[in-house]
Amino acid sequence: MPMIDADFERWAERNVCPCGSGLYKLPLMDAQNIFCCYFCDVCEKEKKAKYRPEILTGYDQSDVDEPIEPEDPDEWGSRG
Ligand SMILES: [Zn+2]
Repeated sequence: MPMIDADFERWAERNVCPCGSGLYKLPLMDAQNIFCCYFCDVCEKEKKAKYRPEILTGYDQSDVDEPIEPEDPDEWGSRG
């Protein structure tokens, strides 16, 4: 009879994804390293879909302040 490591079993039970896949869960962290939730290969897309992509991938001021192409008013007149 093979030895079952009860400690490992308990550890595994605590570390499987709550989605019920039976796979190990991984912490989903956002770009600020803030814990969002647990996910596994099965529910990764589903879990990540609940969060805005920029929260997970990160954004900085340069993303927020996108440069707006200046409109040259002279163009309007010269095209007549
Ligand atoms: Zn899962």
